Amino acid sequence: MLPWWLVIGYEQPGPVYGCSDPGCAVAEIAPTDLYCRTHGHFLPAATWPLGRARFVVANAARIAVCAGFLLTALLDSPIPAWVVGLAVATVAIAAPLRVYPATRAFAASCWTLVALAAATQTRNLEGFLTALGVALPTVWFLYSAALSWGVDHWRPRIAAADRGAGYVAASLSFALPALVVSLQGFPALRIAAAVGLVGAAAGAVTVGIVSGGMRIDTVVSAQLPYPPRPPRLNWTLPPKQPAATAAGPFDRLGLALSRFAHGSLRVSAIAARTAADGTRLFLHLLAIVVIGLVNWLVRVVVRTWRRMVRTLTTACRTLWWALWITAAATVRSFRVLVLPVALFAAAGIAVLRWADHVHRYLIDGAIADLAGLGATAAIALLALTAAWMLLSANPLVGSVRSATHSAENAGANGVVLTTVGGWTIGLPGLLGFGPIRVGWLTIGATVLLVAAFLSLLARRRRSP
Ligand SMILES: [Zn+2]
Repeated sequence: MLPWWLVIGYEQPGPVYGCSDPGCAVAEIAPTDLYCRTHGHFLPAATWPLGRARFVVANAARIAVCAGFLLTALLDSPIPAWVVGLAVATVAIAAPLRVYPATRAFAASCWTLVALAAATQTRNLEGFLTALGVALPTVWFLYSAALSWGVDHWRPRIAAADRGAGYVAASLSFALPALVVSLQGFPALRIAAAVGLVGAAAGAVTVGIVSGGMRIDTVVSAQLPYPPRPPRLNWTLPPKQPAATAAGPFDRLGLALSRFAHGSLRVSAIAARTAADGTRLFLHLLAIVVIGLVNWLVRVVVRTWRRMVRTLTTACRTLWWALWITAAATVRSFRVLVLPVALFAAAGIAVLRWADHVHRYLIDGAIADLAGLGATAAIALLALTAAWMLLSANPLVGSVRSATHSAENAGANGVVLTTVGGWTIGLPGLLGFGPIRVGWLTIGATVLLVAAFLSLLARRRRSP
């Protein structure tokens, strides 16, 4: 189960259901439809138990709306109308997302928070917008960093290629915006930018060492060969001349000298051979030590070089992926968080203005306030519709089709409610009790309703 912040804006819709009337074509109903296509029933209430409960709730809602307008006039305050507007707007944002539970909870709570924040600053909407202008980018970058951190849940392909890139991207997600903003004249953010960039570089190098440099091929071929051990020398003297027989004392002396000389030569030859063998062995050992040293140095240099190259290439690849993830997370958080919250703020301000217009219209009945009332209601509903379209992430054509179908059905219900409610709360004023009179809106809705009713009658008569 993924955490909600990785789900919103990309949630798979739950099963779509129709109303409980027989023959309801569920296949034609889009996940964001509010009314069933066959009967025009309000789908969020379609699963409620039939009969009395639904009847009571629906009429309690209608009475509450009328009571809100009545209280606005009686208390001479826009607050009850604002409460009605807030409730209707909450339904307008939450109901189309009803098969996206996590996104719906996020949208409804986020909308309520923004609308309440706007309402506490009724007299200082510039302050509200300034605070939003600081808070929204901050939340944007924090959310981008969180998305980058959890990238393996929404971009498994990148995560498989390089898991560490997400952590580097989390660092970049706030370092790059901080750098841009600090260059615009906010030097205080330079430290944050520097920390983030150094952190990103250190992260990339760490990933380079761990998943690149420590996984090199350590076999180094093409080294100097070791010389074979030299064979022993076999220097020998030629065989001694056979001894001549001595022919007198003088000859004996000569023979003795000859024997001595031959013996000395033999000893010298053995000594020379031993010395030469020893020297050759020493030189051989020296050569082995030198070649071993050279080979070791070559191995060290080659491995270090490979390690450096692998570390560097892995670090660069990690940085490249990190930049890619940062861009994707920034775009995603802009669509899922920044744009919807900005739209919520626009809708929140529009609902405040709408409540003011309702208040003044109920007191004065001025046509200008009626126009303002309609314009602000349209702005709020359009902003909230755009918000749920962004958050449901469905193709635009389907969303627009869904929205127009909902608007047609809700508009029809709204005209009926306006006519009935307008006459109900306006009639006492017409008879001289209370501040509300039957005004342009009620009369217009009544005319519309009567015209629609007559056209329906005419059509029935034409095609029996
Ligand atoms: Zn139906």
